Amino acid sequence: MMQKHCCEDMDYHANFTCDIHEDPFDCPDKLIIYNEKKKDYGLIIHDGGSSHIEIGFCPWCGSAL
Ligand SMILES: [Zn+2]
Ligand SMILES: [Zn+2]
Repeated sequence: MMQKHCCEDMDYHANFTCDIHEDPFDCPDKLIIYNEKKKDYGLIIHDGGSSHIEIGFCPWCGSAL
């Protein structure tokens, strides 16, 4: 398995896709939104909209992102 994120946890969450919710912002299980182009990581805020907080460090392993 190829790992392109800082750790297994981030790999899992950044790549997580849900069968039920097409929009990641609708899915309560989706925590991290990853922008492939900008290489940006965001923490999804489930407030019914599409807000997220950009994060500079991995919440699991603490690596700079
Ligand atoms: Zn990590
Ligand atoms: Zn879901």
